[in-house]
Amino acid sequence: MDLTDSSTENQRHAIVDLTDSDLKANQPTVVSAMGSQHATLANDGNKSFLGEFEKANLPEIFKGSWANAEKIISSQGIGKAPGISNARVVVSTSSAEFHRVSLDNKGCPTKCDCTRFKELRLCAHVLAVAYQEVCLEHVITSYQPNMSSILTPSGKAGKKPNQSVRKRRATSSDDKRDVSQFSDPLDDGNLSVLSPLEKWNVVFVKDTKMRKCYGCGGSVRQNITFEPPSPWNIVLTRREYRVYTPRGKNSLQVSTVKENVYYHPRKKCVLEKNTSVSGNSIAISQDIESKLDDLHRALLRKEFGINI
Ligand SMILES: [Zn+2]
Ligand SMILES: [Zn+2]
Repeated sequence: MDLTDSSTENQRHAIVDLTDSDLKANQPTVVSAMGSQHATLANDGNKSFLGEFEKANLPEIFKGSWANAEKIISSQGIGKAPGISNARVVVSTSSAEFHRVSLDNKGCPTKCDCTRFKELRLCAHVLAVAYQEVCLEHVITSYQPNMSSILTPSGKAGKKPNQSVRKRRATSSDDKRDVSQFSDPLDDGNLSVLSPLEKWNVVFVKDTKMRKCYGCGGSVRQNITFEPPSPWNIVLTRREYRVYTPRGKNSLQVSTVKENVYYHPRKKCVLEKNTSVSGNSIAISQDIESKLDDLHRALLRKEFGINI
């Protein structure tokens, strides 16, 4: 599927799925992140070095990096670092700076000095160098997300009006704070005990038809055939009265019956729509638990203090 198709699909989907009601708000972010490369990629007449982003099986958040890496490669923006054999200098697509990408002894990129790499353990510069050094596949398959810095919600730039309806108690506006501060033990003291029906259940994305996080509005997967890599292939779900803005209207609406809503497995996402959440309010069936890997466990521990 090329990018033209996918955006059409998104729009079509938005008509039937109200969780996509912030799609419009998201679009400027996507377009600016993709820059003019978006148009280039959508045009089959132009050469694509990296191939289709969707086939790389990377989290959606790297879509912009993927496009930027294309840009770097096509503009031959990679050079040798003077006097250093195990590094490359790469042009920045956002400023006049250069970034330094370190290579391992096989010449494969391992690290970049940019902030995106620090946050996410992957960036356009590493992707571009990986392509040039013929180890792109290795870099993609060995990609491990940085547990201390969870994905930035893609819906952040375009907040829906209803996202400010319920504010979490800690009202710091600093989105980049360390998630470890969420494991404040006092937090759990304020929680009433939830009945089983009120708990958020951990489910695998592939067992659902969900695509977007109800909390942050960010994408979990682009289409329902795509399975995000661990740990982002699990989500939290429960039935809630859903607050949304109907298409073409500015007013908020509350669903008349409880509907399944889905959240990234992040405290911050659940708190976008709820006043509190803790490990006690999350249910993991034995079946699901047996399928969780180390990344899932580390994430659930970090976010909700669940020890499994
Ligand atoms: Zn970088
Ligand atoms: Zn989310």
